[in-house]
Formats: sequence, structure tokens, C-alpha cells
Amino acid sequence: LASRTFHEEGTVIRVGGLEIGGDTVHVAAGPCAVESREQVLETAEIVKKAGATILRGGAYKPRSSPYSFQGLEEEGLKFLAEARELTGLLIVTEVMDVRTVPMIADYADILQIGARNMQNFSLLREVAKVDKPVLLKRGPSATIEEWLMAAEYIMSGGNYNIILCERGIKSFENYTRNTLDLTAIPVVKHLSHLPVIVDPSHAIGKWRFVPSMAKAAIAAGADGLLVEVHPNPPEALCDGPQSLTPVNFNKMMSELNQVVAAV
Ligand code: PEP
Ligand code: MN
Repeated sequence: LASRTFHEEGTVIRVGGLEIGGDTVHVAAGPCAVESREQVLETAEIVKKAGATILRGGAYKPRSSPYSFQGLEEEGLKFLAEARELTGLLIVTEVMDVRTVPMIADYADILQIGARNMQNFSLLREVAKVDKPVLLKRGPSATIEEWLMAAEYIMSGGNYNIILCERGIKSFENYTRNTLDLTAIPVVKHLSHLPVIVDPSHAIGKWRFVPSMAKAAIAAGADGLLVEVHPNPPEALCDGPQSLTPVNFNKMMSELNQVVAAV
């Protein structure tokens, strides 16, 4: 179902007035984690003004350590929903557990399956039952075929609205957090009709290098980006080192316009 052989034309996902996979490049931006009402509303205003169309923010966080901040849960979802009311941005947020999928789907416009859960087959089957698009991240060690098979789980369960997201894979290189697999963009577009976006923030893990990889992703044919932005990165509860300041996000967005115009 995810293959180009069954669906020659690229799929356009229509959600809340946006077309993802169409002619417009969409940028989803926001904090790694929802930390407070003020933080989310402030970031939403900033990214909206800079040209983002979707607000990202985790209320349930898949942290490597159980002692790290785990997210504000439903309270965080309420702040995201309030930010949507105020700005008109759509909301993308991560689902980690089959038990919370229906509740999170009531708040979110797009459900995110995190890299660590790409092969959580019961979770894939659960989001298949929901009438909301799914942003499916590539697992850190997943091949392109495994990633497309994960999409296949969701599609075969009845949900055809999948946005694939390349977010970097494990390699021997440890200067960056992961290695951004830019080759995945044209390859997946060749193999599949689904839209592909890129998350340069988790791929690189260092904010300084995020704008250049964001531009490279668009030049390589990505349909959009998922970028971490925090009003005050040093104070972030999660992923501060890879988060752009409002000033740097603004700068990246204006540089992106030139790349978008050129492709
Ligand atoms: C995230 O987007 O905040 C996240 C946890 O990303 P990933 O699943 O790609 O690590
Ligand atoms: Mn993060």
C-alpha cells in the first residue's frame, strides 16, 4: 500500500486546511517537550510569525533515562490545544502507549510515532484505527524497507495518511547525535508515494548545524521539516543543545525560502 507501484502519484495529506506532500513545504516547529503554558504559547507565537504551519511539542516523552523529565501528559496537551486556538497552527505530538492513543487523538491534529516506537506493532495497529494523519519517524537502526513496512502496518489497518520522517540513523560517527540520511529522501520518494519530511534537530543534535541540513533536506526533495525551537534553549528540560533560539529559527526560515524558490 505504501509502494509507488500501487499508487503512481504522490500522496497529498490534507489536514486542517494544509496540504502535506503538495507544492508547499511545511515546517513543524516547537519545543522538544511541553514544559509550561507560557513556554508553549510563547513558542507558538514565535514559530507562527516566522512561517511555521504546525506546532510540535511532546507531552509524553520517550526519555533514555527514567529519571529525566517525562512530560506534562494531558495537561501538556491542553496547552497545545490552547496554542492552536490562539495561533491557528496545527498540533503534532507523540503517542507512546496504546492506552493513550484515543485521548491524545482528541487533542492533536497529527499523531507522531517516535523513532523508538517505529516497530512497536501494537502501537502502529492502534494509530491505524484513528482518523488523524500519522507522522512516522524512522527508527535509529531501521532500514528503509523496515520503515516502509512500519507504514504498511498502519495503512493495512485502515489509515492511509502517513507522513514519513527521517530523523537520523545510528552510525560510527559520534560528533553528531545521529547521522542524517539525506539519501533516504530521494530513495523513499522513488519507492513510495508517501510524503517525506526531515527532522534535522534529532539527526544532528547540535543547533549550529540544523539550518544547513534543513536547507539540504529541502534541496533533496523533502516535503517539510520538523524542527526544535525553544525560547531559551539553555533552560530547556529536554534537547536544549539542538534547539534553535527564536532568532536562529527566523534566520533559518528566511534562508529556507531561497532554497524553496530554487527547487
Ligand atoms: C521528538 O521528536 O521529540 C523525538 C523524541 O524524536 P525521535 O523519536 O526522533 O527521537
Ligand atoms: Mn527532542
